[in-house]
Amino acid sequence: MQLPDRAEITEVGPRDGLQNEARELSVEAKIDLVHRLVATGIRRIEVGSFVHPKWIPQMRGTAEVLAGIRREPGVTYVALVPNARGARDAIAARADEIATVISASESHNRKNLNRSVEETLDETVEIARLAKESGIGWSAYISTAFGCPYEGEVPVENVTSIAERLVALGADQVGLGDTTGMAHPVLVDAIITSFRGRLPDAALRFHFHDTRGAGIANALAALLRGEWRFDASIGGLGGCPYAPGAGGNVATEDLVHTLHEMGVDTGIDLKALIEVARHAEEIAGRELPGKVKVAGRREDLVAAHAGE
Ligand code: ZN
Repeated sequence: MQLPDRAEITEVGPRDGLQNEARELSVEAKIDLVHRLVATGIRRIEVGSFVHPKWIPQMRGTAEVLAGIRREPGVTYVALVPNARGARDAIAARADEIATVISASESHNRKNLNRSVEETLDETVEIARLAKESGIGWSAYISTAFGCPYEGEVPVENVTSIAERLVALGADQVGLGDTTGMAHPVLVDAIITSFRGRLPDAALRFHFHDTRGAGIANALAALLRGEWRFDASIGGLGGCPYAPGAGGNVATEDLVHTLHEMGVDTGIDLKALIEVARHAEEIAGRELPGKVKVAGRREDLVAAHAGE
């Protein structure tokens, strides 16, 4: 197999994970989780969202989290923003990067953001301007890129043309979100063909949910095409807003374990990461879907049975 030598993980547990957990964490607990994650070698981390707490109470206190964390050099602390107002708040709170969301499908965008895709792109112009003016990064998620809970199949063409417009507006990275766990490896491959045909040099990231167990298979499909940027959530923290009880993002420690076994470096200390996954389980107050924290590392198993 031809795989990249290294992959970059963006940890989204404190944002995408916690916003879909029933239990609401204190600012202190969130800060502690961010510290623990960064200590494992994670260099990109979404710490929260500047969405109104009326909509997502779990994201309350993101400005306090950003103010309270000990900033490690070389680490990018990202905040999700739903609109220009959120972008101003994130900039004031000294986020290193803002992340925006737009859906590839009209009905999901309306349900999620209460406006059309075109109206969202208009608002994004202002957010892009704010990011540029303050000299911080901007990564643009396209959610429902692999399927929509209301419309089903999403034409690959929709995803690529939205991506082109976001890159033209100055997005530093485009993140393709499998919000609903509808992606599969053949679809991932097809979207990459379309995307790279038109945007050969754009920084592309994948945000796979493991809703139906295809998260790592999808990551492998992307790796085989030379793509190397992935989101993941510690322990598999989170869920799917359209399927109560379903799992969330692919678990960071599971993805990192498979990457390392395949010889793809991440710069992350897996053993330490597994400890954080167990901690995440404690603070979430429920069993999280990540597998490696239960089974242990492959190499530990071999070591334990070496004398038999
Ligand atoms: Zn997500």
